[in-house]
Amino acid sequence: SSVMAKSKFEYVRTFELDDKCLRNCYIVVRLDGRNFHKFSEQHNFIKPNDDRALGLMSRSARSVMEDLEDITIAYGQSDEFSFVFKRSTTLFKRRASKLMTHVTSQFSSSFVFFWKEYFGEQPLLYPPSFDGRVVLYPTNRNLKDYLSWRQADCHINNLYNTTFWTLVQKGGLTTTQAEERLNGTQAADKNEILFSEFSINYNNESSFHKKGTTLIWEKVTETATKQIKRPDEGESEVTVTRTRKKVTSHSCDIIGDQFWEEHADILES
Ligand code: ATP
Ligand code: ATP
Ligand code: MG
Ligand code: MG
Ligand code: MG
Ligand code: MG
Ligand code: MG
Repeated sequence: SSVMAKSKFEYVRTFELDDKCLRNCYIVVRLDGRNFHKFSEQHNFIKPNDDRALGLMSRSARSVMEDLEDITIAYGQSDEFSFVFKRSTTLFKRRASKLMTHVTSQFSSSFVFFWKEYFGEQPLLYPPSFDGRVVLYPTNRNLKDYLSWRQADCHINNLYNTTFWTLVQKGGLTTTQAEERLNGTQAADKNEILFSEFSINYNNESSFHKKGTTLIWEKVTETATKQIKRPDEGESEVTVTRTRKKVTSHSCDIIGDQFWEEHADILES
């Protein structure tokens, strides 16, 4: 710390590497739960999609956005979340390790802190952990393609998991049999299994599960009534309207242009 006098040991600091992120690039931090296949089984996650777990992931991501400035958009699915810092951020002097560890530890502690709000009496059996990585994207196209890649991954996994667990839960197959049944199948085959054998139209499944969760900052207008006391008039009621920025959650397509046109402030020139 700054009050510590320089000592003969001070030189060891020069062993630290410069890990400042290249200027002008979007900084993306993605985290992913460690061993969540096992974690989800041990905590009785509902398969294929446990909404308590997805809600807790989003709540933790919101806490990251509220805690660290300059995150303009976050996208999450399954046990992962990606956070995008604006191009011009100078937070932590753009040091990759600082950004990544702050995002990941704020997320992890929030996941534990808010556990009870989502899982109620079901206990958290051990401290979960998340890995983190930093990736830089120089162009708007690269950033959009990155987020499209994660959303396409969500879709592919959700179609697989929905079909897999339908075969097990409604079709009476063992997990091994379901795995064998789906081996080598294409998306169209899975849609067909769901439709012809179980009368499930995958298109009608919830968009929360098909599209994942996108968090952005939006201006919201809030109206409240307040009691005010004036010395001459006594008590009276007034309506107070104020706008503030809030993290809002969306389960929408972010691959097409519409989302980006409606939220044109996210991408910078
Ligand atoms: P930064 O986010 O830059 O690390 P900081 O406030 O955490 O800012 P540090 O240089 O890391 O600053 O110092 C940690 C501070 O936390 C100490 O200066 C002290 O005030 C407080 N602190 C940490 N541990 C203890 C402790 N066990 N007892 C009392 N105070 C403590
Ligand atoms: P790694 O440590 O390499 O990331 P992992 O076991 O976490 O290993 P992932 O590829 O990250 O593997 O997959 C996460 C797994 O967690 C999913 O395959 C699924 O089994 C489970 N999972 C995560 N979120 C949910 C959820 N909301 N509902 C049900 N299962 C979930
Ligand atoms: Mg310290
Ligand atoms: Mg400190
Ligand atoms: Mg993995
Ligand atoms: Mg994982
Ligand atoms: Mg994962």
